Amino acid sequence: MSASTDRPFSTLPLSAPMLANLAQLGYEQMTAIQAASLPPALAGQDLIAQAQTGSGKTAAFAIALLHRLDAADSRTQSLVLCPTRELAEQVTQEIRRLARAADNIKVLTLCGGSPMKPQMESLAFGAHIAVGTPGRVMDHLERGSLDLSALNTLVLDEADRMLDMGFFDDMVAVVKRTPKSRQTLLFSATYPEDIDKLAQQFLRDPKRVEVASAAPAQIRQFAYEVAEEQRLHAVSTLLNHYRPASTIAFCNTKRQCDDLVDVLNAQGFVAMALHGDLEQRDRDQVLIQFANRSCSVLVATDVAARGLDVAQLECVINVEVTPDTEVHTHRIGRTGRAGAEGLALTLASLDEMGRIGRIEQMQGRETTWGKLDELQPAAGGPLQPAMDTLQILGGRKDKIRPGDILGALTGEAGFTAAQIGKINVTDFHSYVAVERGIAREAVKRLSNGKLKGRKVKVRRMADLASSAA
Ligand code: AMP
Repeated sequence: MSASTDRPFSTLPLSAPMLANLAQLGYEQMTAIQAASLPPALAGQDLIAQAQTGSGKTAAFAIALLHRLDAADSRTQSLVLCPTRELAEQVTQEIRRLARAADNIKVLTLCGGSPMKPQMESLAFGAHIAVGTPGRVMDHLERGSLDLSALNTLVLDEADRMLDMGFFDDMVAVVKRTPKSRQTLLFSATYPEDIDKLAQQFLRDPKRVEVASAAPAQIRQFAYEVAEEQRLHAVSTLLNHYRPASTIAFCNTKRQCDDLVDVLNAQGFVAMALHGDLEQRDRDQVLIQFANRSCSVLVATDVAARGLDVAQLECVINVEVTPDTEVHTHRIGRTGRAGAEGLALTLASLDEMGRIGRIEQMQGRETTWGKLDELQPAAGGPLQPAMDTLQILGGRKDKIRPGDILGALTGEAGFTAAQIGKINVTDFHSYVAVERGIAREAVKRLSNGKLKGRKVKVRRMADLASSAA
């Protein structure tokens, strides 16, 4: 993340509960993009903000839209359009965190890949804030399940990515269904011509804010020359030497993702693939396990990793050098967030040296080369993730909330809260991360006990995966 400024949130005209909540979240100083965009946004101005993931952009627009929100009015007052479901879910979570200060603000995610009907039912109860992908939001508008006539804030998040993904027409159609009096906040990492076109059409005298990405300076980058037939094994050499707690390894093809996962798992790493051939549910499960620290290596294609924001990503490995220098920047920009130092490692065969040359030119710096055969494996073998994930058959539809699961584990089952990690509740399943060493015992105790007065089925995700293999 770009380093924070020396400007505290308390310099903004925010409510006392909002300021208290920000402090509780550990948000004391504004990040650069927040310091640049919040004053005009809170004053009601339209905005074109050029900012990358990790810059704190979500909080920038979330604080602005919450500022204008009237909780007593149950109509939809804010809409955030996002390119992907993952991003929409992250944005929803961040808005919910930031909205804790106010009463009962309902935030709803509207994305493709989930059934329409539950979304329509939830909308019927009213949602103050909707976050979704343009196609699905348009679907709801056409069916009349979403009404934007009371909208006061429209956010276009990662607008360049939405255009890349062919959402131009849907975006235009959605914007046309919103009141002209709305405030529009456009966030985009780049500023191609299409964005300009969109902005001219739909923004009113927008203020442009831009912050330089501070990321590259905080990222240690090393490259290693590799022979083609060593490539996959070289990844484990890197992992065993640097021992990062969390890594994304980027591959150029799905096939290579699967092959690499097989190699890494055979060597004792907990690695999972993320690519376009996965069913939505499998994809969600992989992301949950990576984010809750039950999986230490995510092996992904660029498309699959779009919009993914994982806090505390220690290392990025380029299993192959991408031909696109912008993609390279995007890949390595995923590490070194939140002021932490990042590590970016690149494996390059002789055939890929031309690509390395173009990257050097773009970054304006020379590559630091290391030698694979000089890397020593650290003692202790492949680093195991800190946590393990349990799946509970039962979710939001069964009225299960994270607190119920935490309660069952720390109550009757006798574990301490410190042994329990992230809890994700989806419609029909819940996932809870527990310390790796207690996973089997936790399955046993939860299965023998009760959750909300009922027996539940519980299993380790790792057992599920091995029985499916
Ligand atoms: P984003 O660029 O919106 O994906 O945010 C990157 C990360 O920074 C998220 O995990 C936020 O929770 C965190 N964050 C945003 N604003 C602040 C802040 N002012 N201080 C500390 N952390 C922040």
